[in-house]
Amino acid sequence: MPKIKVAILAATGAVGQRFVQLLDNHPWFEVAALTGSERAIGQTYSDACRWILPGPMPEYAKNMQVVPTEPGLDAVICFSALPTDQAKELEPAFAKAGHVIASNASAHRMWPDVPLLIPEVNPDHTSLKAVQQKTRGWSGFLTTNPNCTATGFTIALRPLLDTFGLKRIFAVSMQATSGAGYPGVASLDIVDNVIPYIGNEEDKVETEPQKMLGKLNGGNVIPADFKISAHTNRVAVIDGHTVCVSVELGSKAGPAEVARVMAGFRGPEIVRNLPSSPKTIIEVRSEADRPQPRRDRDAGKGMTTVVGRVREDPLFDVKFVVLSHNTIRGAAGGSLLNAELMVAQGLIQ
Ligand code: NAP
Repeated sequence: MPKIKVAILAATGAVGQRFVQLLDNHPWFEVAALTGSERAIGQTYSDACRWILPGPMPEYAKNMQVVPTEPGLDAVICFSALPTDQAKELEPAFAKAGHVIASNASAHRMWPDVPLLIPEVNPDHTSLKAVQQKTRGWSGFLTTNPNCTATGFTIALRPLLDTFGLKRIFAVSMQATSGAGYPGVASLDIVDNVIPYIGNEEDKVETEPQKMLGKLNGGNVIPADFKISAHTNRVAVIDGHTVCVSVELGSKAGPAEVARVMAGFRGPEIVRNLPSSPKTIIEVRSEADRPQPRRDRDAGKGMTTVVGRVREDPLFDVKFVVLSHNTIRGAAGGSLLNAELMVAQGLIQ
């Protein structure tokens, strides 16, 4: 099949660069446009972008000219790494003009007719496409992936909700600096330090999982019925968000059973053979001191969620640690997998 033309909106930032990297030689998608801010427009990508990722800038991107972020690009799918303020106006304009937007921004995640999507968790939520197009009169449509901390956390919760039910969750995150983009947090703030505040983050971690784990009811999602209390912290790690989680289950189960259920999670069949799907969705480690960002964030090319320290919790039922790569699984890789799912579902021609 001929490759589907795609664009990367805000290709010069931390997430935009991940898209450029992950789309190099993608079997289904071909990058036809890279957009940037006023500063970058008209320059070649290699001049406009300070490349911050390990490994070289892909050859295909180097001499592409950065273009304005305007609907009408020669691209079916537009992967958006736009900052939220810019995404507010621009993403709906692209969807109205017929593009499929796969967004990383938080601007539209909680709109009732916008899928907030993790293919292994809620692939059926893409059926909101029809509702969205009908109510808004758009010929394209808008999908989003969740907050980078909510991503691995929600993947770990999916099999627990299905098997035991969930009542209450307490979570404390230790989030990497790349989660704040580039240049992000000033080095004098973060080196030798922990910052116990990330603007608007706790609200996202406390509400997005329930939407993803909720049930479709006609044109709406009924959020899952459990509460989350989250503390979110910035730490001096480059990539990989770690979350310490305590859960009260609907029906009692011990750590061994919880670990077995997470390790056995296979996800829906349609997701298993997509180009960006990890072979193992949740890797459960048994060592006392894992997962660790530096050692475990690249599991499954950054798409596997790594869980460890599954043990009894004296206040709740069970506690464990979840690690997920924030710019791959929690951003560009997650968005790519969303687009692959929609192609496999026949929603993108
Ligand atoms: P970033 O490193 O600050 O990059 C943002 C980029 O957007 C910059 O390169 C900026 O270009 C560009 N930009 C600004 N206005 C633009 C416009 N009108 N058209 C095109 N480009 C424009 O931020 P990021 O970490 O990549 O985050 C991007 C989005 O992903 C945000 O919505 C963020 O919340 C979300 N997200 C990030 C992560 C993560 O781990 N970093 C995870 C999940 C979701 P200039 O440099 O020229 O100003």
